[in-house]
Amino acid sequence: MSGLPLKPGAMLGVLGGGQLGRMWSHAAQSLGYRTAVLDPDPDSPAGLVSHLHIQTTYLDPQGLAHMASQCAAITTEFENVPAEALAQLQQQLPVSPGPDAVRVAQDRALEKAHFVRCGVPVAPHQVIHNAAELALVPEDLLPGILKTTRLGYDGKGQVRVNSSAELEAGFARLQSGTEPVVCILEKRLPLAAECSVVLARSHDGQTVHLPLQTNLHRDGILAVTEVYDGALSAETTELALRSAYDIARQLNYVGVLCVEFFLLQDGPERDALGPLVVNEIAPRPHNSGHHSINSCDVSQFELQVRCMAGLPLTPPRLHSPCVMLNLLGDMWLQQGDTPVEPNWAQLLALPGVHLHLYGKTQAKPGRKMGHVTVTAADMTQARRVALQAAGVLGIAPW
Ligand code: ADP
Ligand code: MG
Repeated sequence: MSGLPLKPGAMLGVLGGGQLGRMWSHAAQSLGYRTAVLDPDPDSPAGLVSHLHIQTTYLDPQGLAHMASQCAAITTEFENVPAEALAQLQQQLPVSPGPDAVRVAQDRALEKAHFVRCGVPVAPHQVIHNAAELALVPEDLLPGILKTTRLGYDGKGQVRVNSSAELEAGFARLQSGTEPVVCILEKRLPLAAECSVVLARSHDGQTVHLPLQTNLHRDGILAVTEVYDGALSAETTELALRSAYDIARQLNYVGVLCVEFFLLQDGPERDALGPLVVNEIAPRPHNSGHHSINSCDVSQFELQVRCMAGLPLTPPRLHSPCVMLNLLGDMWLQQGDTPVEPNWAQLLALPGVHLHLYGKTQAKPGRKMGHVTVTAADMTQARRVALQAAGVLGIAPW
């Protein structure tokens, strides 16, 4: 692509101003770029640390024109930025990931169809467009998880359903507004574990990846990520990487992409589907890759910047095994409705603790306020300190 690599001093732009945009902005600035954020919230975490913060809605033509006039390249950090906004910007400057890939990632039905096209195993599922189609759902998808096809995150927009009656009630519950909310019913699979691949793919197709993450979710929200050599068998690692690379390549993907997987317990589902099933993709850096800032020689955010700027990608090397803990707003609210600041000094007295706070002033249950990555010389030590950190912060052990 002409004009690449971008020179330091150029302005890079991001749609969405959350914590991913904030950490991306830090990485871009380290490489000498200026950063611009488009996000309506005046206190957005990324807006607070960027050179330019355009405070408007994602489809505001004036805001998009302002971004296009100031920036040399654009990315997105918020999955639900309308693909249309990216398409408009792409007419004027390089946008990575592009609108077509983002459109697929934003819709669970399109996403599943893409996985099937790539020949990667997925949970048995059925798309339900309206209440009349509930009668067509095969019994063997129950017990299942009913999810809205669009706009879900952190376990929101999902209901667990065990029977046809619960499915009907769940579908009704997920409806809002006048248009039918399209849903997808997935068979609930017996999970042995969850893992993710974060990869980065350049304009010319060069692809690198972070070491695989194993992830523990609580209430549908990522709680703990562990990364160390040998966490998964060589076969599983190879299968996950091959699937993730295929998924990215067949989307002509440019930028950082996360692919989430389920590892199945022994049993009939595993016999039918294999050991690994792809769950979903995120067209951006991912919470499970935050550890890379402290544990790897190149972070997922720097990779995103390198992709946008047309700089070379180098394979990230894990220099320290690590445990990442998410800090949710609940931690501030353990003593009632008046928020109490956690004891950061006590946390930071532990060795190998890296604290990242996102600058959010209001703690709410389930809201991601920050994360902690514990690095150590070996995994036993990383886990030991992470458990101590969890004790200080009131996070349940795992
Ligand atoms: P989100 O977009 O909110 O991350 P996911 O589809 O990844 O939604 O679901 C959140 C979590 O719920 C998953 O990480 C997993 O723990 C659980 N889950 C989702 N789908 C299934 C399934 N088909 N079978 C078993 N567990 C599931
Ligand atoms: Mg998920």
